[in-house]
Amino acid sequence: MNTAPECRTSPLSLARAEVRQLPVYNAGLSEDAVRAKYGIPRITKLGSNENPYGPSPTALEHWTEIASSLFRYPDASAEGLREELSRQTGIDTDRIVIGNGSEQIIRMICEAFLSAGDRLVTVLPSFGLHLIWPQMMGAKAEAIPMTADARFDLPQLHQAVTSGPLKVLMFSNPSNPVGCMMTGDAMQSLVDASPEDTLIVIDEAYWEYARSSPDYADSLAILKNQSRPWMVLRTFSKAYGLAGLRVGYALTSDPGLTAVMTRVRDPFNSNSAALEMARLSLLDQKHMHRTVDATLTEGKALKAALEERGYFVAQSFANFLFFNARESASALAERLLEQGVIVKPWKEKGYETWIRVSIARPEDSQAFLAALNRVRQPSHSSAA
Ligand SMILES: *Cc1c(COP(=O)(O)O)cnc(C)c1O
Repeated sequence: MNTAPECRTSPLSLARAEVRQLPVYNAGLSEDAVRAKYGIPRITKLGSNENPYGPSPTALEHWTEIASSLFRYPDASAEGLREELSRQTGIDTDRIVIGNGSEQIIRMICEAFLSAGDRLVTVLPSFGLHLIWPQMMGAKAEAIPMTADARFDLPQLHQAVTSGPLKVLMFSNPSNPVGCMMTGDAMQSLVDASPEDTLIVIDEAYWEYARSSPDYADSLAILKNQSRPWMVLRTFSKAYGLAGLRVGYALTSDPGLTAVMTRVRDPFNSNSAALEMARLSLLDQKHMHRTVDATLTEGKALKAALEERGYFVAQSFANFLFFNARESASALAERLLEQGVIVKPWKEKGYETWIRVSIARPEDSQAFLAALNRVRQPSHSSAA
C-alpha cells in the first residue's frame, strides 16, 4: 500500500473552531468488530437499541422488487411515505419531513435554526447528538440533569426555559438513555412556560414502546393547540426494525417550518429502498405491535433480574434499561465485550457508573445476565 506523505498543516487546524472542539459521537462497536477483536463467534448486541425481531415479513416480500429499481434516483419529495404517514398521524403531508434517520433531522434543525451563541436546553444524561450538533453550530447547549431517582427534573427544566432567550428546547421522550417518560401534564406546563419563539423539539424515537402507557404525554395533542413552532421526531430504526436502512421523520407545526427544513436538506437524502420499506412497514402495524409487546414483556423480566442482583434500574418506557452498576461502567462493559456481549457504558459526567442495555429476546437477556454474573465486581454479588 502507498502511504501518503504526512500533511504539513495539521488537518484539525484547518477545521472551524467549533469542529476542533467537537466531541466524537460514541457509536459503539459492530458485531463484526467484536468478533474479530475477541475471537468470539456468538455476539449478543445490546448496545444500540435495535429490534432483534427484524422488519415486517410482508414488507420484506417486496425486497427483490425494490432492489430492481435501485438504478433510479429516489423520489426527492418522498411522496408515498409522507402520504402514508399523513394517513396514520392526521398531519398533512406538507408538515412532514423525511430524514436519513432522525439523526439527520436533528442535524438539519441545528443547521437551519442555530447560530453561534444561541441557547439550547436539553437534559443530562443526553442523547449525544442533542448536544453535538448544537455545539457544531457554536450554540450554547445547557443540559439539565435528571433527578437522583432518574426522572425528568421538572422544576429545573421550568427554571431553564424561563431564564432568558431560548432558541431550541430539545429532549427525547421517553428519554434515551434513561428510559423515563414525561407525562402529559408535565409537558403541557413546560411548553406553556417556554418563550413563544422557542422551537420545541420532542424526539420520540421510542414512541411506539411508550404510547400505551397511561400517563405518557400525547405530544401532538398538546402541541397542536399551540401557536408556536414545534417538531416531533420519530424513526423506523427502533420499533420498525429498520435501523440499517436509515429513515426517520419529523411532524412539524406548520408548512413554513417544513419549507425551512427543505432548504438545508440534501435533495435525495433518503434512499429509495428505505422510503419503500418504511411505507410497507407502516402498513403492517401488527408485526410492529407484536415485537413491541414482546419487548415490553421481556423488559419487565430483565429489570427484575437486574434488581435481584442489587442494581438500581431506572423505570423504562422504551426498549432499553439504564442501571447503576456501582463500578466503572467502561471497565465493566469492556469485560462484557470479552464475553461477547455489547452494552453501552455511559460516559457523561456523573453517570460513569451507569450502563444502558437494550431489551431484546429472552435468550439475549440470558446471555447478558450470564456474562454479567461472570464479570461483575465480587462486591456486588449480593444485594446491598
Ligand atoms: C436511536 C435514536 C435516534 C436515531 O434514530 P435514527 O432514525 O436511527 O437516526 C434519535 N433519537 C434518539 C433519542 C434515539 O435514541
